[in-house]
Amino acid sequence: MVNMGRQKFDAIVIGSGIGGLTCAALLSKFHRKRVLVLEQHFTVGGFTHGFDRKGKFHWDVGVHYIGEMEEGGTGRDVFNYITNGQLKWQKMADPFEKFVYPDFTFDVYSGAKRFEGDLIQKFPHERKAIKKYFKDIRKAAFWFIGDSMLEIFPFFLHPLLRKIYGHFGKIGRQTTQRYLDKNFRDVQLKAVLVSQWGDYGLPPCQSSFGTHSSIITHFLEGGWHPVGGGKQIPDLIVPTIEQSGGIVITQRKVAEIIIENGVAVGVKVQNLGDPDAELEIYHAPVIVSNAGAFNTYIKLVPPEFPLPFRDEIKEFQKGTNVLTLYLGLKDNPQKLGFKGENHWIHNTYYHNAIVDAEPIDAEHLPQFGYLSFPSFKNPDAKGHTAEIIVAGNYDFFSQWQDKKWKHRGDDYKQLKAEITDSIVTLVENYYPGFRDLIEYTELATPLTFEHFGASDRGAIYGIPCTPKRFDIPWANARTPIKNLYLTGVDTFPNGIMGAMMGGVKTAGLIDGHFGFLTLMAVMMHK
Ligand SMILES: Cc1cc2nc3c(=O)[nH]c(=O)nc-3n(C[C@H](O)[C@H](O)[C@H](O)COP(=O)(O)OP(=O)(O)OC[C@H]3O[C@@H](n4cnc5c(N)ncnc54)[C@H](O)[C@@H]3O)c2cc1C
Repeated sequence: MVNMGRQKFDAIVIGSGIGGLTCAALLSKFHRKRVLVLEQHFTVGGFTHGFDRKGKFHWDVGVHYIGEMEEGGTGRDVFNYITNGQLKWQKMADPFEKFVYPDFTFDVYSGAKRFEGDLIQKFPHERKAIKKYFKDIRKAAFWFIGDSMLEIFPFFLHPLLRKIYGHFGKIGRQTTQRYLDKNFRDVQLKAVLVSQWGDYGLPPCQSSFGTHSSIITHFLEGGWHPVGGGKQIPDLIVPTIEQSGGIVITQRKVAEIIIENGVAVGVKVQNLGDPDAELEIYHAPVIVSNAGAFNTYIKLVPPEFPLPFRDEIKEFQKGTNVLTLYLGLKDNPQKLGFKGENHWIHNTYYHNAIVDAEPIDAEHLPQFGYLSFPSFKNPDAKGHTAEIIVAGNYDFFSQWQDKKWKHRGDDYKQLKAEITDSIVTLVENYYPGFRDLIEYTELATPLTFEHFGASDRGAIYGIPCTPKRFDIPWANARTPIKNLYLTGVDTFPNGIMGAMMGGVKTAGLIDGHFGFLTLMAVMMHK
């Protein structure tokens, strides 16, 4: 056992999600800093971690597909840099998405022109609006990225920059529903265009059009997956941190950020592997939190430290919850025609109704499900697997929140069995014979995500990207506390790519105003 207490670190990162690991790897590799990463889970990676069952089934928790991974693209360059070129990518075969409705299916192929053309072919009467949509999503995505990046520029430039990209804010800031209602008449088309809202977790009446656009443009050229599964991401970043003498340690839950005279100087840490152990204390001149804005400001910064936005954080809309059903299959799903694409199954065109729907149980089928096949994405998979994600509701499960994982009682187990059956029925209704493929089932509820991911109420995408989200001052990488920084998806929204860019942004800011641009220049010229 390493005696951590006597070691000196240049930076401490709380949490080993892709945001935390990216920031730690950049501080290690580019700035030659010795970084300590503290992770509360027993495995590294945050939502990039995966797990196995029965020696043959493997699933990734939060890596189903990632866009913009083409050779020479920004995302690929960053991943190459932080994994020393070790992480390989596999592009999903076309069509990589299927939007499935009761009366039709729409296939999505990679390539913006192809997607636009296929939409026009199916909805020729909306041709003009579709053409405008493809221009508008680029403008709104530009605004979204500009707003998420504003912090990297010196303050005196902000008014000028806001003027430059702010013009597109009018498009990006409205809700997606408002944009659709203003520009389209066809109800079916409106539904098709937001079929992937599960990728950002908000139905069109809640999401900002900028958020929607950033995801749609993210996947315009297709979807990629790490060769060997999502777990390759943390497994190949950790050695980069270790090369500079850094350490990534699991089962270490940060209980408090130590602040002295307004400056963050260290952390108090609980060793979850040893319930009798005393709190460990580590000091470093830089503290980075990948634990999310809510956890950091509400749970880790001592309550006596004055923060102007504590109440606002507590009252802000909570993040998206889901249920994930992990399935081990006894037969190859190709038998039913599946080839590895994502299936966005919707029982209704009215996406807004889905999140408000009654909880799922024996009597209530989910109205929406995202079906994917992790084993198709991994050539070395020993057994076939599937995953179905449906909308979840934290409050529905909150009565078991104080009970321990695996000890939540028979009523919880019974409810999970009913929900499992309902979710399988949703898919079976569209793909008869699916149920017969199943050998093993395991259902994750919002409590599971809360337990393993330590996110606020088990939210899966961080702060929800409603239009209001772009006005909050507490989702920045810089904090009001000197030497304390945030990173990850709360500092740059939307999935793995966003959280990773959050890591780059934070590492850059630690180095001063032009740190981000310097880092990007180095990574893109490797
Ligand atoms: C079911 C699901 C499906 C998804 N599918 C996709 C997808 O297909 N494509 C995509 O791009 N994105 C997807 N995502 C989203 C993506 O995985 C996340 O947005 C991203 O991984 C978040 O990274 P992060 O670094 O911000 O935080 P996280 O991955 O949440 O990491 C935060 C880490 O901090 C740790 N932590 C928290 N508090 C403490 C503490 N006090 N002490 C120590 N450690 C602490 C947590 O345990 C965790 O490991 C999905 C997510 C989920 C859950």
